[in-house]
Amino acid sequence: MIYADNAATTKLDIDAFDAMKEFLTDSFGNPSQPYSFARRTKKALRESREIIASCINALPEEVYFTSGGTESDNWALKGFMKRQENKRVIVSSIEHHAVLHTVQSLEREGYDVCFLDVTTEGVVLPSMLESKINNDTAVVSVMFANNEVGSIQPVAELAEIAHGYGAAFHSDAVQAVGHIDVDVKKLGIDMLSASAHKFNGPRGIGFLYIKNGIKLYPFMDGGAQERSMRAGTENVPAIVGMAVALKKSCEAISEEKIKLKNLEEELLSGLKQNNLDFIRNGAENHLPGNVSLSFRNSDGEMLLHRLDLMGIYVSTGSACDSKNTQVSHVLRAMGVPEEYAKGTIRISFGKDNTLEDVREIVDSLTKILS
Ligand code: PLP
Repeated sequence: MIYADNAATTKLDIDAFDAMKEFLTDSFGNPSQPYSFARRTKKALRESREIIASCINALPEEVYFTSGGTESDNWALKGFMKRQENKRVIVSSIEHHAVLHTVQSLEREGYDVCFLDVTTEGVVLPSMLESKINNDTAVVSVMFANNEVGSIQPVAELAEIAHGYGAAFHSDAVQAVGHIDVDVKKLGIDMLSASAHKFNGPRGIGFLYIKNGIKLYPFMDGGAQERSMRAGTENVPAIVGMAVALKKSCEAISEEKIKLKNLEEELLSGLKQNNLDFIRNGAENHLPGNVSLSFRNSDGEMLLHRLDLMGIYVSTGSACDSKNTQVSHVLRAMGVPEEYAKGTIRISFGKDNTLEDVREIVDSLTKILS
């Protein structure tokens, strides 16, 4: 099989898996307990938090463990807004549903939600934020990089504008963390969401970075875990696996970038050579390995199933949209022409993909489309 849907989820890294084993079996002590048997898990929890914090240049106490990207986005936006006097929330129109549905829920409660347009390359320009922001704005949330087309957003500039109006800046960095450099301090980010299964960590674990001084309501009430902000016994094996996977991914960023760029080039040149009529969506500055292609007068759903029969796994848009044959909200916001938009697939390469995989994908697409 050729798995080329790494933006949907990734295979668990073997070192992460090895590190997790001890905490799934022998070292199972509840880290909240004071006895010596719990020392091992308590230490693992502390060290994992330190590793994760150093990967994004945060302080350990600014990292809160969650069940993943969706929870982090919900917590950041709802937990923050409910403590604010100001009612305006600004998000981009190409956010993942974890953000879009969260702000729709806030809108139903009376908050003033405002959506930012994007360019045809799927980028939010600072001027677009300038035209919507006002002194009633409490938070601006723009994703670090888009999951469907890979475009990387100018987060530092956007955060600076938000701060100029006294608003906080949140970024859904689920697709970015572990794949491109993320430095929360340098970029001026106040809250940042991440998810382990996007960087070869386990599924069902993630984190929310909350800058010291930013006030949120707790996500879960109960015990004193996560400084009483997110109650519930910690999933220590998953947290340990996430830390190992993130450290390994961050150390390999430059090397992976070169490798994935090669795979992208091989794919695009192969498809061009075979005279397929397609456009590549997204910005020049995009996530390594994320290739959104729109084939003229085709059908993304059909392409996905035909490739599936050939043992090749890709996506039609974001994973959550794969049952939906309609043009995705991201492609619509970018204004991709209808005759191309319907024939869109997302190929997202990961660390295990090879040039042979790419050649096989080119041959298979050519067979289907010629
Ligand atoms: N945000 C983005 C940009 C994503 O791509 C995803 C997953 O596809 C999520 C949030 C949701 O993350 P999780 O699956 O960890 O809840």
